[in-house]
Amino acid sequence: MKKLKQQGKIVKKNKKTYKCPFCGQGHMVTKTMDYEIVDTLNRKTVIPNIEVDTCDACGERFFGYEAAVKLEEIKKKGSLITLYINPELQKRIKNSADKHERSFEEEVNHLLETTLL
Ligand SMILES: [Zn+2]
Repeated sequence: MKKLKQQGKIVKKNKKTYKCPFCGQGHMVTKTMDYEIVDTLNRKTVIPNIEVDTCDACGERFFGYEAAVKLEEIKKKGSLITLYINPELQKRIKNSADKHERSFEEEVNHLLETTLL
């Protein structure tokens, strides 16, 4: 029976998880970590103590709002960074973008600028 396999799985109960949109198999688990990013110029930056959603199957990562703001600060210093935003936040930004008749990118920039001011 499949049930036996599931018993060995470590499930965090306190955090809500959602299905991984990349592989469709695993679940995203939120972990707080010091996240090191390497930009296009091979410079390393550590963002301390941010929440990162990681897929327990394929390892794909999503960043929440806090991380997005911090990454934006780093980007302003001339680095090119690509990041994935978690789907819940993505939906909120998409709705907001539609409302303001902006593109998704424009809305992200607008939101980040407003937050940073
Ligand atoms: Zn996955």
